[in-house]
Amino acid sequence: MMKKVAIIGAGFSGTMTAIHLMQNSPVPLQIILINDNENFFKGIAYSSYSKRHLLNVPAGKMSALPDEPAHFVKWLQKQEQFRSETPEELSEKFISRILYGNYLSHLWNTNANSTNAGKHKIETRTQRVKAVRPNKHKVSITYNDAQDDVVDSCVIATGNQLPAHPQTGDPELFKCPDYFQNPWTKECVTNLNEQKPVLILGNGLTMVDTVLSLLEAGFKNEIYSLSPNGFHILPYRRLGINYNKLLEELPDNPDLFELVKLFRKHIKSGIAPELVTDSLRSKTQVIWKKLPDDEKKLFMSRLRHLWGVARHRIPDEVHTEIQGLKISGKLHIKAGRIIEMIRKENFIQVVYSEKKTGKHVVLDVSRLINCTGPQTNFSKLENHFLKAMVEEGTLAQDPLHLGLRANTETYQLKNNAGEVYPHLFSLGCLLRGELWETTAVNEIRVQAQKVAENIIACVMNKL
Ligand SMILES: Cc1cc2nc3c(=O)[nH]c(=O)nc-3n(C[C@H](O)[C@H](O)[C@H](O)COP(=O)(O)OP(=O)(O)OC[C@H]3O[C@@H](n4cnc5c(N)ncnc54)[C@H](O)[C@@H]3O)c2cc1C
Repeated sequence: MMKKVAIIGAGFSGTMTAIHLMQNSPVPLQIILINDNENFFKGIAYSSYSKRHLLNVPAGKMSALPDEPAHFVKWLQKQEQFRSETPEELSEKFISRILYGNYLSHLWNTNANSTNAGKHKIETRTQRVKAVRPNKHKVSITYNDAQDDVVDSCVIATGNQLPAHPQTGDPELFKCPDYFQNPWTKECVTNLNEQKPVLILGNGLTMVDTVLSLLEAGFKNEIYSLSPNGFHILPYRRLGINYNKLLEELPDNPDLFELVKLFRKHIKSGIAPELVTDSLRSKTQVIWKKLPDDEKKLFMSRLRHLWGVARHRIPDEVHTEIQGLKISGKLHIKAGRIIEMIRKENFIQVVYSEKKTGKHVVLDVSRLINCTGPQTNFSKLENHFLKAMVEEGTLAQDPLHLGLRANTETYQLKNNAGEVYPHLFSLGCLLRGELWETTAVNEIRVQAQKVAENIIACVMNKL
């Protein structure tokens, strides 16, 4: 009988794992790719609702296939609008995420219709998974609206969760139509009320996308962004150089204090913080894995935001536009913490304490959009199977609640006794606690290939 593999989540992680499985498994498999909405192959990031939402990495670094680094650029060259551009020019471009989603759909269609895929039974299933129960030999899956399944291997690729709600004494606020927990759908920028400004909670890349979309929707009033530090997002400068000096001085097992000292030294010598941070990219996972929990905790409370600013940058042209909005007084970046949020008749009153002065500032806004980043503490999720799994101890979270516990060589998940499930795998954002840098295509494309290899080994009893 054919071995059955279920992949829960059809974003980049799940889709690429399925593609590697269908291309490389010598034994015929039944591959079931499950997603709870229509955004198959694209997931949250690449089913964007606006052409103004760009990739945050140049096209030359966005191939979905680790063994073919020019794959995405070659695909772009075949698209009508880019025919006149050279591969070198295209490699430097920041392409729209919608187009990247089309690339992933194309990749799926080509692979699913290939000769190699012919020997497998491939199914895409639009269903929400309600429960996952692994045992030593099999994994059983319960759906919202279909018969249970029992599979030989399962991949949990459910990616990015919605942001956590901000703290407030009034949980009813989150039911009000002026609050938007999901910043990745068009609803958060439609039916705008021009009478008052919009407040965006958070100050990262999704904040920038939301500002661009508010402008696109013709929003005339002012836009505020509130975050603990109010850092100013950096442009992705095309420096065209790499910096290796920090790596040359990196000790074998650096602790956090040595790392900070090294960073300071190199930045003080006049090297741009982005270059210094980027230079560590290839070593970040190894360093993170070896840091003790208390140092990880310190990093998260003191340095995470700075790291984020240096790592997550925006295309130069978008940066210029954001600068213009700040200069014209359309966009205000504020640093502070929310004290209170009060529902009023047609608006929300937000009181925050300003970081610099400690003063309480009152801001009346027509809408609150939550761009604080995905919730990673799964016990706090609403209505998701991961919540029950971590609460029961079927799966374990790291002490900082950044992701799931897993064997980072094989990507097999662990329970809270530290035991590895032979048939249950995960990758991408869900492994943030184990690997820290594991959310971008750059890392996930390699993981998807490895997870597929391990599933193949597993169904052939070789793992
Ligand atoms: C807005 C945004 C922009 C980004 N831009 C870039 C970029 O430019 N470059 C880059 O390298 N990285 C980018 N990233 C990082 C991104 O995390 C990865 O590139 C990648 O898209 C993650 O894919 P994923 O499949 O792991 O997760 P997701 O895209 O979140 O996909 C998970 C899928 O699982 C489904 N799902 C969840 N729960 C269930 C359930 N119970 N049952 C069934 N299905 C379920 C979801 O509906 C979703 O489709 C971006 C991330 C975001 C959020």
